[in-house]
Amino acid sequence: MTFTIPFDNTYAALPGQFYSKLPPQAVTAPRLAAFNEDLARIMGITPGDAGEMAQVFGGNLVPEGADPLAQLYAGHQFGTYNPQLGDGRAILLGEVLGVDGKRRDIQLKGAGRTPYSRNGDGRAWLGPVLREYVVSEAMHALGIPTTRALAAVETGETVWREGGLPGAVLARVAASHLRVGSFQIFAARGDKASLRQLTDYAIARHFPEADGPMGLLRAVRDAQSELIAAWMSVGFIHGVMNTDNSSIPGETIDYGPCAFMDDYHPHRVFSSIDRGRRYAYANQPSIAVWNLAQLATALIQQMDDPEAGVEEATEIVHAMPARTEEAWLSRFRAKLGISAAGDGDLELVTGLLERMAENQSDFTNTFRALADGTARDQFTDPAAFDTWAPDWQARLEGAPDPQAVMRSANPAFIPRNHRIEEMIAAAVAGDYALFNKLNRVLAKPFEDQPEHADLQRPPLPQEVVQATFCGT
Ligand code: AMP
Ligand code: MG
Repeated sequence: MTFTIPFDNTYAALPGQFYSKLPPQAVTAPRLAAFNEDLARIMGITPGDAGEMAQVFGGNLVPEGADPLAQLYAGHQFGTYNPQLGDGRAILLGEVLGVDGKRRDIQLKGAGRTPYSRNGDGRAWLGPVLREYVVSEAMHALGIPTTRALAAVETGETVWREGGLPGAVLARVAASHLRVGSFQIFAARGDKASLRQLTDYAIARHFPEADGPMGLLRAVRDAQSELIAAWMSVGFIHGVMNTDNSSIPGETIDYGPCAFMDDYHPHRVFSSIDRGRRYAYANQPSIAVWNLAQLATALIQQMDDPEAGVEEATEIVHAMPARTEEAWLSRFRAKLGISAAGDGDLELVTGLLERMAENQSDFTNTFRALADGTARDQFTDPAAFDTWAPDWQARLEGAPDPQAVMRSANPAFIPRNHRIEEMIAAAVAGDYALFNKLNRVLAKPFEDQPEHADLQRPPLPQEVVQATFCGT
């Protein structure tokens, strides 16, 4: 074995109530389907041969220095509290300090049953693994905080869902896998000591400047405000913003039924399980506030007198909407080519968005086209654009280099749902060409790549993906 990973674990050194230690379950015939060399380099990992890496990332061989475990957490799922979740199909191998000085988790998702699997099989199938690989890497290239994909392995086993499907494991990388639900479980149990330990751990690892539980709450609020504003700015719908999928370091985590919108509508939902439309595009800022309130409720339980913490916690949570709106406006201003705040910016942005919603305008292509003067073609009734454009043009007078501002705020390429579905179908049939092409093109989303115009095209009516699935 020559393939090594320079582990440096801290979570595994916490006391036992935070996890169950166990190795991943071996698979029959692991085959390395993808490996992210750029990410490996930043993490200080020297690639080994494909066979060795398939053994490690498939879960058959626990590499030296790893201290595998399943993390414990709870969470509100669609608003209902579930007192015990935890990694039901994921194993944290350990942490690595990168050459950039950043600490990152390496987790195998789809690594077999754990004490938290409930009725699940602990496995994942190839479709959602490759979807998460491509979409999370695209998110990173868009400059948005996210977990990343280090490797994907086909297991050679069949996973049973609606039918038999090829099994796979994703080696996922995160700043950490701490979630709002990681705190909720100990609050619900009235375990102040564990809450304090976890709070100290989260502060030391992510927000060393934060002071105590309320400092942590403030830091998470700010990170989440920025994150949600960033999602909104690229038309991203997370789809399952449960508190167990709400990251403490503020990364996008859990690419289940997520989607990037094609034609813009604020109430768009893709997730097939989101029947109440709780996690619709335009609801995301307020859901993030709701999730932060759950974190606040959990964090104050560690105080000697939780009642005494209510006022400050409430104040922190109540300040979130204004922060998100500020971050949101700053991003949408840039999308219009404006770099400095001015009167009437909010009306200018909403005026365009309303017209886009009424005219089935493609979210990505409309904004991208603003810079080259062809945006009106994106409206079923181009006159709707013409009634908005003069105010915008007036606002741009004297603005410094609006073209450049727009081109670095409006991506040309997003992972479109119909291409993701096409990619999965091809990969299941053994053809990874589209998977590789998507990774290559989406790595430079702000560059014109005219030879890949096919990936900019919205779906034809028969290609439209109506629903996405949790893919568990
Ligand atoms: P998710 O919807 O992926 O956020 O998962 C919610 C919870 O269900 C987490 O505790 C997962 O670990 C668990 N889970 C999801 N799929 C499976 C599966 N196939 N086997 C076991 N647990 C699962
Ligand atoms: Mg989850």
